[in-house]
Amino acid sequence: MTYWDNEVDVLVAGSGGGLAGAYTAAREGLTVLLVEATEKFGGTTSYSGGGGMWFPCNPVLRREGVDDTLEDALTYYRAVVGDRTPAELQEAYVRGGAKVIEYLESDPSISFQMFPWPDYYGKAPKARLDGKRHIIPKPLAAAKLGELSASVRGPLATDRHGDPRPDYLIGGRALVGRFLLAMAKYPRASLRLNTALVELVVEDGAVVGAIVEHEGERTAIRTRRGVLLAAGGFEGNDALRQRFGVPGVARDTMGPWEIWVRRTRPVWPSARIPI
Ligand SMILES: Cc1cc2nc3c(=O)[nH]c(=O)nc-3n(C[C@H](O)[C@H](O)[C@H](O)COP(=O)(O)OP(=O)(O)OC[C@H]3O[C@@H](n4cnc5c(N)ncnc54)[C@H](O)[C@@H]3O)c2cc1C
Repeated sequence: MTYWDNEVDVLVAGSGGGLAGAYTAAREGLTVLLVEATEKFGGTTSYSGGGGMWFPCNPVLRREGVDDTLEDALTYYRAVVGDRTPAELQEAYVRGGAKVIEYLESDPSISFQMFPWPDYYGKAPKARLDGKRHIIPKPLAAAKLGELSASVRGPLATDRHGDPRPDYLIGGRALVGRFLLAMAKYPRASLRLNTALVELVVEDGAVVGAIVEHEGERTAIRTRRGVLLAAGGFEGNDALRQRFGVPGVARDTMGPWEIWVRRTRPVWPSARIPI
């Protein structure tokens, strides 16, 4: 029996790609709590200098008069991905991408621009060498985010070389900043830094909530609709890298380093699932 401290519709762990899920849930009327383990929002997403997105035939490209078709894009995608992922998933990604961009762009805080970047496998059928399947988030003036801009991770040159933080957020940082700006409109969404999801709570085979930890204090959050795990990969874990054949070593990770320090701590011994 779990004694809950708080209850929300959706709990999101991780503030890189997780922001997209948290934003969408809030926009669709759900109560959302996003927890980010480190002291900054953005994760590896913030380190992406481009923030490039491959979504063929999306409205941004259409406005630029791009003459692509979803059938051509799917032919290319199937050729390069092969049977590594289910065909339905590939179809959903390629066909659904344009709708995602349309949905996001209908929020004035979120906008994109075309940034020609050639398809990586130029010899595959229906590859576009002119880069007309690629968009990036529009740069965002840090001033528009106000104090919140200091809470956005990166860029890499700032975090790892101590360069001054630039006046504009670009690439992945612009995406993170734009989601934060957009979410500020939804009081039903809360975001917590320095707060890690440490365990999922499972009852009768279903996830019904999670335990989050802030400054050593644990809180049990009941979730009515679900938990979105967007806590990044295992690039900082050598054992997992070896097990799944990822080249290189953890020391070389491009992700936020702090998180790997936290993950070496023991989790509660219980029937719950440690992550
Ligand atoms: C230099 C560079 C350029 C790139 N360019 C591109 C590009 O142009 N296009 C592209 O598609 N990809 C690009 N990538 C890759 C892309 O950035 C990553 O694949 C993507 O950002 C991963 O997103 P994520 O949400 O899975 O993880 P992250 O963005 O890393 O987010 C995970 C977050 O979860 C937090 N977290 C971890 N554990 C917990 C926990 N237990 N509780 C709460 N929070 C937790 C982490 O601190 C982190 O903030 C690039 C990467 C780099 C480094």
